[in-house]
Order: sequence, then structure tokens, then C-alpha cells
Amino acid sequence: MSAARRAAVLARLAERELDALLVTNLVNVRWLTGFDGSNAAVVIGEHALRFITDFRYLTQSAEQLDPEWEREIATDLLKRAVDGLPAAPLKLGFDDAHLTVRQHEQLRKLVGEREVQLVAAGGIVEALRAVKDEAEIELIRAAAVLADAAFEEVVGAGIVGRTERDVALDLEIAMRRRGAAGVSFAPIVAAAEHGARPHAVPRDVPIPPDTLVVIDWGAQLDGYASDCTRTVATGPLDPRDEAVYETVLVAQEAALEAVRAGPTGREIDAVARAIIDDAGHAEHFGHGLGHGVGMEVHEGPRLGKTGEDQIAAGNVVTVEPGIYVPGAIGVRIEDLVAVTDGGYEVLNTLPKALRTVG
Ligand code: ZN
Ligand code: ZN
Repeated sequence: MSAARRAAVLARLAERELDALLVTNLVNVRWLTGFDGSNAAVVIGEHALRFITDFRYLTQSAEQLDPEWEREIATDLLKRAVDGLPAAPLKLGFDDAHLTVRQHEQLRKLVGEREVQLVAAGGIVEALRAVKDEAEIELIRAAAVLADAAFEEVVGAGIVGRTERDVALDLEIAMRRRGAAGVSFAPIVAAAEHGARPHAVPRDVPIPPDTLVVIDWGAQLDGYASDCTRTVATGPLDPRDEAVYETVLVAQEAALEAVRAGPTGREIDAVARAIIDDAGHAEHFGHGLGHGVGMEVHEGPRLGKTGEDQIAAGNVVTVEPGIYVPGAIGVRIEDLVAVTDGGYEVLNTLPKALRTVG
């Protein structure tokens, strides 16, 4: 664990007057320790750097963790976490956003008579994860570049006449072949009126010519996710559909220009929303402008009507306005960007001018 990361956690604990934090969410455990197995807990504090897993991960945890971590093997991780606490009054934060009701009850019983005060402290690690360091941004960029290459291979070879499901599956295979651990979410391939559903599930239906196809896909690589959407044409379009594409592109680029450290997610969302509203599509853009991406494909901060947090340098967010015309077509254009003090840097590489594929 880097000294900077540990110091950041300790500063957050000090702010909340916590002596230690019990971390049970596996993504947070991985961010703190590098461990990517399926069962672990961490106790971190001024005087604690404890990692607990079960016997299956004895060797893997020894390889993945820095020696500064005190590694413990146990069958019941929560019990071990509490048993190892010092016999003194202390305030222990726990992750109320992830602990199950049953686990919380168990934790309460384990603490029992001891002078341990349990404090709901969910979101501490997530808030730190939202601000990426250089190395993390490079990992996200690598995932995005890999996903772009898979798109070129599959979509560039032509999609007309193939089923949506087949194209989606091919995208998955192409990403895996290039080294992805998996997809960051099941790819969306949605042609014509099916594209009007923002979260369309690919169908066993051939993709027709002369329409729009929304393709939303991402790779998981070295613990980080990517997320990108392109909408392509499969031939000459109705001018109405071309105009929709143009509106989304203008809105997307205007919103990108608004991305920098300082404004709230709501303010950036409003830039794209105003353009889409003015074009008469207010009711056709029903989702937020974007979301944070990191170890998880959906994390903080949120860019949308309810995004009150200020965007900060080091945030990695999507900018993905869309227009969905029921019964007709959908268009979404999504870039993945790292926020800098003065602006942004796009991590994916595919162009956005309307592209026609066969
Ligand atoms: Zn997406
Ligand atoms: Zn997205």
C-alpha cells in the first residue's frame, strides 16, 4: 500500500474520530491491499494494518500483499477481526453500505461486552477511490484502448445481417483474447428502435441496413474497468436520424468542454441537457450525463441532475448524453475522461463523427 494512500485513509479516520476501519467490501480491500481473491477483510488504523483471509488464499495473499500488512488466516473473518482488536476503548468504523444485516448483527454480538463503539462509516474508501492517481489512470486508459481495438476488429468487419447477440458476444471474445479479465458489463448492441432503450439487452435479431446501432461496451483489465459507447450507421439514414446524431454529438462535445475540477456533476450535466432540450428532445434524455469509472464501472462521482459533489482533478468519469426516440432510434455517444485542474483528457481513442459500417 502506498504511503500516500495510507495517509489519506488515516486522515479520513481522524476527521471522523475513528480509531480503525473494518473493511469488508472486496473492491475496497483490493484497492487497499492489491489482493483480488474472493474472501477477505481488513482492519486499518493508526496502529493497525491487518489483513484477514481464509486458508485457500494463504499463498496468493503472501504474493499480493506488501510485507507491512499483518496477514491472518481464519475461518470466520469477522470474529478474527474483532478478536484481534486491542483490549482498550475504541471506535471502530464499519461499512454500513456493504455489510449485510446478518453480518452487522454478528459484528454487534462479537463486540458484545467490549468497549468497542461501532460507527457506520460507509463510503470512506469509495470517496478516496474516486480520485485516481497517475498509475490508476494509466490502467483505465489501457482497458479503454484494449476495448477500442476489440471494437475495430468486430464492428469494423461489418455488422449488417449479424444478430445483435452475436456481435455482443464477439466483442466479449475480442476483449478477452486481447487480455481482458472480462467485460466490465455485458455489451449492449441495439439496432433501430431497440436502441431507444438505454439498457437494451442484445436480441437474436439481425441488424438491418440503413439504421443506427448503439454499441456500449467495456473491458476489465488489471482490476480497472472501461466504458465507451459509439452509435454507428449501417447505411444512408433518414435525415431525422442524422439530425438526432448531430444533436447528441454537439451536446457531448459541449459537455466535455465543461469538464474540469470545480463544477458540480449537475452543472456539467446541465450543459448537455440544455442543448438536447433546445432541440426538442427534453423527454428523450432520461438518464444522467455520466458516472465515475475505476475498479468498478459505476462509481463516484455522479454527473446528473442529482450530482451535487464538485468534480475534482483525478476523477475519471464518462460523458454520455443520449437521445432515445421510442419506436424509432436511439443515439448515445460516450467518452471516458480523466479530469484535470484545467480540463480533461479523453482516455479512449475512437473518433465520434458519424461512421457508416456495412
Ligand atoms: Zn457505457
Ligand atoms: Zn457509462
